[in-house]
Amino acid sequence: MRVSGGGRCNLTHECSDIREFVKNYPRGGRELIGPFYRFGPIETIEWFESHGVPLVTLDDGCLFPKSDSSEDVINALLKTMTAEIRTNSEVFKIFQYLEKFEVELASGDRLSCKKILVATGGGAFIEGLGHTIEPCVPSLFTFNTSDKELASLSGIVVKEVCVSVGKLRVAGALLITHSGVSGPAVLRLSSLGARTLAETNYRFKVKINWLPAQSEKEIFQTLEKQKGTSPKKQVGTWSPLGLSSRHWKLLVARAGIDEKREWGGCSSKALRQLAAQVSGFVLPIIGKNRHREEFVTCGGIRLKEVNFQTLESRLISGLYFAGEVLDIDALTGGFNLQSAWTTGHLSALSLAEI
Ligand SMILES: Cc1cc2nc3c(=O)[nH]c(=O)nc-3n(C[C@H](O)[C@H](O)[C@H](O)COP(=O)(O)OP(=O)(O)OC[C@H]3O[C@@H](n4cnc5c(N)ncnc54)[C@H](O)[C@@H]3O)c2cc1C
Repeated sequence: MRVSGGGRCNLTHECSDIREFVKNYPRGGRELIGPFYRFGPIETIEWFESHGVPLVTLDDGCLFPKSDSSEDVINALLKTMTAEIRTNSEVFKIFQYLEKFEVELASGDRLSCKKILVATGGGAFIEGLGHTIEPCVPSLFTFNTSDKELASLSGIVVKEVCVSVGKLRVAGALLITHSGVSGPAVLRLSSLGARTLAETNYRFKVKINWLPAQSEKEIFQTLEKQKGTSPKKQVGTWSPLGLSSRHWKLLVARAGIDEKREWGGCSSKALRQLAAQVSGFVLPIIGKNRHREEFVTCGGIRLKEVNFQTLESRLISGLYFAGEVLDIDALTGGFNLQSAWTTGHLSALSLAEI
């Protein structure tokens, strides 16, 4: 919680329609529809505001505490807790014994209970509970490239690109980093393609359309027009498409055009190649950001094995799940914490038999 949202905690997202809201969950969206109608973003906002955490909604729909501090979220949760909290008590194993659950801690201590809620995000011990675990792979990661020239443009942000890998296509902002590409469009693609990208061992080609608002043909026409109006100007000096100078020079070079060449000296073939670089730049990806820097995990307890009315296991009575331990994950924007609030709240109501 403390490090979430860069220490500010993006705790949920604006919502006017639950069915639209769940589209932000590549895994778990369908199962969360019912739970969100019972305790969704609106109820979450009310809960935090009525527990002393006024919130603010940013232009992109993300909600944060007005104080910009995740500490306030933590304190509000701690203040309402009546349960005993044991820290530094790693659960080693959970098993059933005489209709009770026995919880074995790494210290060797044992706890016993009639019902149990597992909300540990993940963990080796859940594999022994008898449930199917969908294989865990990272989601929400950035891409590393072997294209050093592109990486040398580090810091450039392009507000609206379209990135695609095979049939997966995503639009949004892209940031060029010293090791590759990042930003909302890339994170979204990493989430939608979490499983397929893992299968490639994070070696694949991503196609970037730097100007998706225009077709390749329209871009070519703009370039031809530029050739007609400024035949004596050098191609690399200025981008008639509004791209930044360093970025434009790279695309010009990739099209095989010397940046000092005059527009008038460019053949139609060369301009077509330039238009193709703008609309379909191919970037080789050779990895993702380092392990454990990802934001969420795709995978977890198979959703069919859980009753989403109660969050109780369909296989083992008295066993409940909440949060990321379930095979649920979402895009960035407060959606991951929202599913944790929702499943946490509803499972707690079931446990308390309210
Ligand atoms: C850097 C970062 C920033 C993020 N920012 C945001 C954000 O702004 N908004 C958003 O919506 N999402 C964000 N996320 C995702 C979000 O934090 C998670 O989806 C969410 O915390 C999941 O909640 P959870 O309670 O299910 O699991 P967790 O928050 O992972 O909590 C599980 C807890 O269980 C404990 N645990 C695990 N195994 C054991 C064991 N064997 N015994 C005892 N205890 C155990 C862990 O130590 C941990 O305290 C971010 C994630 C990261 C990594």
